[in-house]
Amino acid sequence: MSTVISEQLFKEAKELFPGGVNSPVRAFKAVEGVPLFMKKGAGCQIWDQDGNKYIDFCCSWGPLILGHNNVSVRNAIMEAVDNGTSFGTPTLAENLLGGLILSNHKYIEKIRFVSSGTEATMSAIRMARGFTGRSKIIKFDGCYHGHADSLLVKAGSGLATLGVTTSAGVPEAFAQETIVLPLNDEDAVKTCLQNYKDEIACIIIEPIPANNGLLIQDPQFLYFLRKVCTEQNVLLFFDEVISGFRVGFEGAAGLYDIQPDIITFGKIIGGGLPVGAYAGSKEIMSQISPDGPVYQAGTLSGNPVAMMAGYAALKETLKEGFFESQKERTEYFVNAVVDYAKSKGYNFSIYTVGSIFWLAFSENIDIRKASEIDADSMQYFKRLHKALLERSVYLGPSGFEVGFISEAHTKEYLDIAIQAFKESLDIAFE
Ligand SMILES: *Cc1c(COP(=O)(O)O)cnc(C)c1O
Repeated sequence: MSTVISEQLFKEAKELFPGGVNSPVRAFKAVEGVPLFMKKGAGCQIWDQDGNKYIDFCCSWGPLILGHNNVSVRNAIMEAVDNGTSFGTPTLAENLLGGLILSNHKYIEKIRFVSSGTEATMSAIRMARGFTGRSKIIKFDGCYHGHADSLLVKAGSGLATLGVTTSAGVPEAFAQETIVLPLNDEDAVKTCLQNYKDEIACIIIEPIPANNGLLIQDPQFLYFLRKVCTEQNVLLFFDEVISGFRVGFEGAAGLYDIQPDIITFGKIIGGGLPVGAYAGSKEIMSQISPDGPVYQAGTLSGNPVAMMAGYAALKETLKEGFFESQKERTEYFVNAVVDYAKSKGYNFSIYTVGSIFWLAFSENIDIRKASEIDADSMQYFKRLHKALLERSVYLGPSGFEVGFISEAHTKEYLDIAIQAFKESLDIAFE
């Protein structure tokens, strides 16, 4: 397997972009080798610039639930482009996507489109503060919500103290408005809500935390959050940028049947083009300009090409049995790999929900907090990642990231991937 062209392109890219990339996790820092420059995708496969072909489990980090270059999505994009790419006026395309989502999602009444997940969470935090008149927010260690200043914060030392920044350039004063708590810990939330009574605008959580391993929460914890938020007039904010339209059309809200006050979307919602959104009840969304006093705008928001891509993609997911089939094929794949690892006595398990999976180099099948992930185990991921690339399987280049199965991952391809996983696990555990 030759990667000389990717190596050359990366050398050139390093002269152009910080670290040679436009988003840091792409840089392959956590694994060996140089980032592969992809040229083409079709179905569940991608091709790099050297002509190597891979079965892709990164799926652009989640958006491509239909696989690469899905024909319905591509046609929708082409048709939209024929009419021009942007107007800065309302378009029919926005009504189509907005209408499709709201009429099939009973947990939200109004939605505002933006251009990324980060923009969605950032705007929705502002809305929560505007609606409640309070400034502090609670987030959880191990949840990622994009790179807005107030969300690049981790727990300070000591219990329930104010957060400290995880990035240079974020003022300490901003971090102090964010309180970071451990996941799946009711007592920590109770104590914090007592200590900061009437100061908390919202509790933001990935209801299915999938950006730092897959830290599936005890549903009781999510029900508990709903209950205490209602009691204390705190808004419950589900960041469903990954889980939305992934574990079901209604995401985690639908899976657990929990009514959050705010939901954010990204990734799948744009069918592979840049779209994000935040949504909630009519009352809460009435805070947003031009209806209300919370300002938020976007030159390319609701872009018609991106809207039509999202519309085409989401329509596919609404077809009978779509999510059941996703889950069934994911379990087929996961069970085959896990059974093999068990038969060999490897210290390995796979966490999964819907069509998301995470490789855990641990036999513990009950990891629910970021602190429970063994960082040393990532050496196994690194070896596995390399062995898989050599066997034509592409995973996102970090062991803290999850993998995704798309509609295009048919059993034929999954069988090929299963064989590659078996051989690669043998190498990783050699
Ligand atoms: C990806 C992600 C974001 C950020 O979305 P971008 O489009 O990368 O800005 C926010 N929240 C969650 C849960 C995500 O997975």
